[in-house]
Amino acid sequence: MRPTLLNPLFAPVTTLPGVGPKMAPLYERLTGERVVDLLWHLPSGVIDRRFNPKVMDAPSGKVATLVVQVDDHFPSSSAKRPYRVRCSDETGFLHLVFFHGREDWLRRQLPEGEWRVISGVVEHFNNEIQMTHPDHMVPLAEQDQVMTVEPVYPLTGGLSARMVAKTVRAALDRAPELPEWQDAAWLAREKWPNWREALETLHRPDSDSAIITDSPARRRLAYDELLSNQLALAMVRANMRRLKGRPIQGDGRLRAKVLAALPWQLTGAQQRSLAEIEADMAEPVRMLRLLQGDVGSGKTVVALLAMLNAIETGAQAAIMAPTEILARQHLATIEPLATAAGIRVGLLTGRDKGKARDRMLEALAAGEINLMIGTHALFQEEVAFHDLALAVIDEQHRFGVHQRLELAAKGHAVDVLVMTATPIPRTLLLTAYGDMDGSRLDEKPPGRQPVDTRVLPLARMDDVIGGVQRAITHGARVYWVCPLVEESESSDLAAADERHRHLTQLFGDRVGLVHGKMKGPAKDKVMAEFAEGSLDILVATTVIEVGVNVPEATIMVIEHAERFGLAQLHQLRGRVGRGSGASTCLLLYGSPLSENAKARLEIMRATEDGFLIAEEDLRLRGGGEVLGTRQSGLPEFALADLSIHGDLLAVARDDSRLILDRDPELKTPRGEALRVLLYLFDRDAAVRTLRSG
Ligand code: ADP
Ligand code: MG
Repeated sequence: MRPTLLNPLFAPVTTLPGVGPKMAPLYERLTGERVVDLLWHLPSGVIDRRFNPKVMDAPSGKVATLVVQVDDHFPSSSAKRPYRVRCSDETGFLHLVFFHGREDWLRRQLPEGEWRVISGVVEHFNNEIQMTHPDHMVPLAEQDQVMTVEPVYPLTGGLSARMVAKTVRAALDRAPELPEWQDAAWLAREKWPNWREALETLHRPDSDSAIITDSPARRRLAYDELLSNQLALAMVRANMRRLKGRPIQGDGRLRAKVLAALPWQLTGAQQRSLAEIEADMAEPVRMLRLLQGDVGSGKTVVALLAMLNAIETGAQAAIMAPTEILARQHLATIEPLATAAGIRVGLLTGRDKGKARDRMLEALAAGEINLMIGTHALFQEEVAFHDLALAVIDEQHRFGVHQRLELAAKGHAVDVLVMTATPIPRTLLLTAYGDMDGSRLDEKPPGRQPVDTRVLPLARMDDVIGGVQRAITHGARVYWVCPLVEESESSDLAAADERHRHLTQLFGDRVGLVHGKMKGPAKDKVMAEFAEGSLDILVATTVIEVGVNVPEATIMVIEHAERFGLAQLHQLRGRVGRGSGASTCLLLYGSPLSENAKARLEIMRATEDGFLIAEEDLRLRGGGEVLGTRQSGLPEFALADLSIHGDLLAVARDDSRLILDRDPELKTPRGEALRVLLYLFDRDAAVRTLRSG
C-alpha cells in the first residue's frame, strides 16, 4: 500500500484550485492526471522581473517592472489599430498597446488616475516608450508578488503561462516533507538539498542558474528518479534469485545433430554467447540473460542451441516472439533443424483456434512437444507445459519487463533468455535491464556484403525511380518505406497508400502494400508474395514488422529518412544485405535539412555498426528521445536526462546493490524512506516483491 503521506500527491489535478473538469484534460495532456505529475513539470527558463527603473530609464527589449499612473484611454478607431493606454511617471510616458483589446475589461483593469504596477518587455518605437500586452498589471499592493524571478513552463494549447505557473505553485504547496532516502554522507558530499527544498528551488527559482540541468537541485531530483529505477530493477532481480533454479546441462546429442546439419560454422561471437548461456544454465540459480545482436547477427540459432540444451535433459523450451510474423519466421528457421535433431516443434499464435489448437495444447501438456514457438498467446491460461525449463523471449524492437516473468511462471525454476535486436547504448541498457547479464553478438556471419548507403534529397525522386526500374529489370527486389507523418498510424497509411498508387501506375501490379492496420492473414499473404518474388516492390509503413527475412531483397528506399530515429533506420537497413547480392539503401530527405539531421544521416552513411549508431544517436539527440523511445518501450524519465545525468546512473546502480546487500527487505529507517521513493516514482510492483511489502 502506498504510504498515506503521499496521498495528496497522487490526488487528481482537479483537487487543485482553478482546475475544473474543463481544464483537467489540458493538464493531463501537458503533464499527467495527478498532482505529482505537475511537480515533475520543471520550468524551462525564468523571467527576472526585479528590474524596476523609471520610465525614461527603461531600455528597449528588456523585461522591466514599472510603477506608473494611468492617464488616458485611446480605444482603437478601427480593427487594425490597437487599443492604447497612456500612463506616466515623473520621468515620462509609457504607452500600453493592446491588439483586439476589450474596452470594458481594460477600463476595469486600468482606471484613469490610479497607480499600477506594469511588467513586460519595454519597446522604444517611433520615439515612444511602449509595452505591448504587459504580462502583469496589478495594484501597488501586489508589487512584491510581481517583482520576482518568474519560472517559465512549457505549455500546451489552451493553458496560459500564468495558469500553469499558478497550478504548479498550488501543487508545490501540497508537497509534504518526506523522509530522506538518500545516504547522508553522499548528500553532504554533493551538497544537495533535501527533496522538498529541491522542488522549491526549481519551481521558485531565484536566478537562471537555479534551474539549469546540472544545478544541485536538478541533479538531486534526477538522482532520486534514477535510484528508484535502479533499485526497482535490482529488487525484481533479487526476487528472481531467491526463487530456486535448477542446473541444466544436456549431454549435447541434439546440439551435435543440429550443428552437423548447419551448412556453416558458428561465428566466434555466437560460440562465446552460447558458452555464456550454457554456463548460466548449468548453475543452480535461475538464469536471466540478455542476448543482444543486430538484425541478422544470428541470434535465432544461438537460442535454438540453448533450447536444445534444455531439451536434452528431457525438459521443454519455449520461444516467444512479439508478433505473429516473427513467430512464423522462427518456425521456418527452427523446424528443419529440429527435424534433423528428431524433436517435435509446436506453434501457437492468437490465430490458432478449435480442435487443432486443443490437440496441440494436449501434446504440450503431455510433454510430446519439446519446443514451443509462439506469440503472447503462450501466456493464455489454458497453455500448460509438461516441464518448461527455458523461456526465450525475443523482444526484437519492443520491451516488456513483465512478460519475461509471466512466461517464466509457466514452469518450475525456468531460466530466461531475453533477445533484442535493438542496439542499446550501455547507459540505456542499464535503465531497461538493470544489472542483467548480457551477451553480445557483435560479429556478423561471414559472407555479408556491406550495404551501400546513399543520402539524397527527395527532389531527386525521378532519379530514384529510374534507378529502381533498372534494378528491377535485373531481378532486384525493393523495400519502399514511407514517411512517418505523425505519431498516428492513419496518416502514415495515407502516405503509403499514395506512394503505392504512384508506383503501381509506373510498375503495374508487381507492387505490394503492407501496413499495421492490415489483418494478420492479409499481411502474411503480401509478405509471402514478396518473399517468393511475385512482387518486386513492397511499400510499407514503419509499423510493419519488417522482421521477415527476404535475402533476395537488395534495395531499401526510405522516404523522409530525417524523420526517423537512427536506430529505426538501422533496423530498416538491416533488412537488405542479407543475401549474397550487393545491396543499396537510399535515404531520401526533405529539404532543408537541419545541421543535426545532416549529422545523423551522415552517421548512417558512414557505418553499419549498430552499437556505434546507438551511441551517436544518444549523443545527438539526448537521452529522452533516443531510439524513438516510445516505439522501443525503453523507460522514459521525467526528471533525469541521460545525456546530462548519465554519470549518476552507475552511481544509482551501485547504491542499489549496496542497499539491498545491507537491507534486503528495506526495513531500516532508510529502507522505509526508500519505499516512499519507490511509490513516489510508481515502482509499486517492485515493493510488492518484498516479503513484507
Ligand atoms: P537474427 O535473429 O539475429 O536477426 P538470424 O538468426 O535470423 O538473425 O540469422 C540471420 C541469417 O544468418 C539466417 O539466415 C541464418 O541462417 C544465418 N546465419 C546465422 N548464423 C550464421 C553463421 N554463423 N554463418 C552463416 N550464416 C549464419
Ligand atoms: Mg531472428
